[in-house]
Amino acid sequence: MDFGNHPCFNSEVRHSTGRIHLPVAAKCNIQCNFCNRKYDCVNENRPGVTSAILSPFQALDYLGMVMEKMEEKTPIAVIGIAGPGDPFANAEETLATMELVHEKYPEKILCLATNGLGLAEYSGRLVNLNISHVTITVNAVDPEIGAKIYSWVRFGPKVYRGIEGAKVLLERQTEAIKVLKSLGIIVKINTVIIPGVNDTHAAKIAEYCANLGADIQNCIPMMHVEGSAFENIPSLNPGDMLPIRNEAFKYIKQMSHCARCRADAAGLIGDQNSGELDRLLAEASI
Ligand code: SF4
Ligand code: SF4
Repeated sequence: MDFGNHPCFNSEVRHSTGRIHLPVAAKCNIQCNFCNRKYDCVNENRPGVTSAILSPFQALDYLGMVMEKMEEKTPIAVIGIAGPGDPFANAEETLATMELVHEKYPEKILCLATNGLGLAEYSGRLVNLNISHVTITVNAVDPEIGAKIYSWVRFGPKVYRGIEGAKVLLERQTEAIKVLKSLGIIVKINTVIIPGVNDTHAAKIAEYCANLGADIQNCIPMMHVEGSAFENIPSLNPGDMLPIRNEAFKYIKQMSHCARCRADAAGLIGDQNSGELDRLLAEASI
């Protein structure tokens, strides 16, 4: 599988090729027990954090400013939307942003990171955008385990809880992966590993998603997030992750260089946000 010039999918280009996340997706359609999006601080480097939310047109302006500033040092090859909520809980904002970006920069790789719940309904608009890479976070393929991870799932007008919620999410994620593969899009599965909850389940997720045609999996240790329902569960260290990744590798290629970027990260993987970027972000969101 050729992962192209995308530094998250292809570790060979991660020191030379940059990516940017445009923070246009504020809301989320599920509640993961390890997530708390109330914190909004420039000193925090983790998914779900951004210094501002931009409208699609503001995002386009901001992108132009960042690319101009970074042109020589870090060429931005990949433009993605990864929150701070879920792209498809804010489908209009997400798709309008992608459409504007694709029109202005047709040569750039477009990428989305989502829980997958709302993706399948928008397959028609995705194909027109020429999106090449999508990440779907799948933390359980057994609804009993999923019920421990998700406190609620909002699909259409209804909110589902417990096993019912986990089942709805898994069904929609399954459909999303099938849709993406039918469109020829490269699919990465992110799996947040939570000790005592799904740490012995990653290989099952790998097998399930590989059977659907997913291309690569990124097992990430759950980050300690204050104020989340799982704030008392400790995170695994890199040594603990190795056997988990090795087991999952029996079914699907593994990625291990994810830096768990902010929703407004820009530059090389590992570069998050900086005072300078924050200034540009503030300028764009006026
Ligand atoms: Fe947080 Fe992402 Fe889960 Fe939504 S899908 S609750 S933003 S971790
Ligand atoms: Fe890439 Fe991981 Fe950062 Fe997403 S969070 S841009 S997958 S390194």
